[in-house]
Amino acid sequence: MERSTIVRVHEGLHARPATRFVKLAKGFESDVELVKDGKAVSAKSSVKLMLLAVKENQEVTVRANGADAIEAIEALIGYLENPRAGLDDEGEAGEAGSETAAATPAPEAAPPAAAAVDGPPKLQGVAASEGVAIGPAFAHFPPEIEGPGRRLQGDEIEDEIERFRGAVASVQARMDRTLAENNLSAGDRGIVAALRDIAADDSLTGEVERLIKGGDDAVSAVIAAAATIAADFSAVDDHYLNARADDVHAVGRQICLVLLGQDEVSLETIPQGAILIADDIGAWDLARAPLKRIGGVVCGHGGATSHIAIIARSHGIPAVLGLGDKVNELRAASQVAIDGNAGHVIADPDETVRADFTRRVEAAAKERAGLKVFKGVTPTRADGTVIEVAANIGSLEEIEAAQEAGAMGVGLFRTELLFMRHMHLPSEDMQAETYSALAKAFAPHSVIVRTLDIGGDKPIAGIEFPDEENPFLGWRGIRMCLDRPDIFKRQLRALLRAAVHGNIKVMLPMVSEIAEVTRTRALVDECAAELKAEGVPYASFELGVMIETPAAVLIAPALAKEVAFFSIGTNDLTQYIMAADRLNPTVAKLNDVTNPAVMSAIELTAKAGVAAGIMVGMCGEAAGRPDLIPTFVKMGLTELSMSPASIQRAKKTIAAMAAER
Ligand code: PEP
Ligand code: MG
Repeated sequence: MERSTIVRVHEGLHARPATRFVKLAKGFESDVELVKDGKAVSAKSSVKLMLLAVKENQEVTVRANGADAIEAIEALIGYLENPRAGLDDEGEAGEAGSETAAATPAPEAAPPAAAAVDGPPKLQGVAASEGVAIGPAFAHFPPEIEGPGRRLQGDEIEDEIERFRGAVASVQARMDRTLAENNLSAGDRGIVAALRDIAADDSLTGEVERLIKGGDDAVSAVIAAAATIAADFSAVDDHYLNARADDVHAVGRQICLVLLGQDEVSLETIPQGAILIADDIGAWDLARAPLKRIGGVVCGHGGATSHIAIIARSHGIPAVLGLGDKVNELRAASQVAIDGNAGHVIADPDETVRADFTRRVEAAAKERAGLKVFKGVTPTRADGTVIEVAANIGSLEEIEAAQEAGAMGVGLFRTELLFMRHMHLPSEDMQAETYSALAKAFAPHSVIVRTLDIGGDKPIAGIEFPDEENPFLGWRGIRMCLDRPDIFKRQLRALLRAAVHGNIKVMLPMVSEIAEVTRTRALVDECAAELKAEGVPYASFELGVMIETPAAVLIAPALAKEVAFFSIGTNDLTQYIMAADRLNPTVAKLNDVTNPAVMSAIELTAKAGVAAGIMVGMCGEAAGRPDLIPTFVKMGLTELSMSPASIQRAKKTIAAMAAER
């Protein structure tokens, strides 16, 4: 028997609702299928169900055959018609992260390298986070696993299937143990739960066993089966499901490692003071790593303003990025010295270099200790005007580091992480709670929240981005938000609600024309009217813009009449003024904020803001540079927002300027 319905489950049957649906289906004896557009799949396989890519508002048919078919159809149709199905936390499987692949505890088997190299090579990369460090090398190069490609004899097949089933059971048991430990965040819990489901799914196990029966060894069979299923996920026209391809590879990899008797090493095991060496590392991976133990970061990818650099700087971790293929020369190093100011990396330093670095590390520690007295200082210009030295942060976890440093509020709260951490777009309530917590933590200082600044280069679940030739010049930041008022209004309503709890200010990223401000203001008014009608408490906030496009600089005098403040985003402003990609190490030299072209753009902006009597601040990375701060203050900037690690030195620099007079 069968029954059709329209799916009302919020955002359709993606990972978590699909997993719940499967669990429900498995509770019935009957064979159950879900049919969409004439294609029927077993309702008892999460992978098959996800691949059917059932979206909200699509028509599907539930088909059941067996003793309890009526009950099965009743229950499953009820589930599909419930918008909140699979979303309420029932304690067991949490949400799967939108970035599961990046956040997967990546197995790696880089040997604890001890081999000597010929002379200590000195490599040049991009100086991405200041400071020097010397420590044991921690190479994070998850190796490609290759199947031996062995053909099995007929009498080996049974044993190989058993071996494979044992490996699956062991991977699942490890994931169950991790879930039981109960020290995972909701996001991580969901990631592990989703991976465990994939490991157990008939689509994977069935395909692997079929290949083994055909004579493939287990490792080769797992690799081939995972590749097939991953390719199916990649082919679906849905960003979220595309990312599941990486989950399948991650699970296949874990099973292979067990079959090969190899251990996985994650960033969790990084020793105290070690230098993390990787070709690339996801910003979210790094954010979740035990940052207090990491002595330094060296990467083949990344540039001075990439998000890895920003995380490293906010935690005071020296980093050299953008080494390209040269990073491979460090794979075998046992000790590494890095100079995050000059962008140098030295593998297996000799005695002289070691002594030099040890001395510099000690001197830096002494300097940090000396800077502590500036934590509570309120720096002023010679005329008594206070210069706000604020923090750039991207999550509530960073509040403590910012307060410890003496931040006078937050000059840039990047809301992207909030959106990237979750499988769904964050709800208005969740956003309101986050922004309120920030406002309360820093009151009476202001907290400047930047509205969602995301584009096709950083996809997030719930927003479909077009394929773009030049994502940095594409549908991002305020452009995307104004085209998606459903998403934007949710954020604006949350901000209006949070403004009740402290000094919230809001700024718009990537602004290039005045209409973007006026259209936003109209939406803010609309949101305020809605909240009023609903009887929800809210307060108004100041609206400002980031100045990070050449267009914004050129219309700054007119823009200044429309907004309460400017905040200069030198990271993007530099790349757009110089036409030099901020992530491309080959043009890193051009991507220089001190280039006269960029400095004059900053000066034009400052002049326009000062003339209009509005606050001009800066939240790009240049704001924390002691060599540039005096120039910015002289131009009229009265707020500088930076990584917490730079705050005390900035306060010292401003205090010294005033003392000179
Ligand atoms: C900037 O562009 O300077 C900025 C602060 O924004 P982001 O680095 O997040 O692009
Ligand atoms: Mg920017």
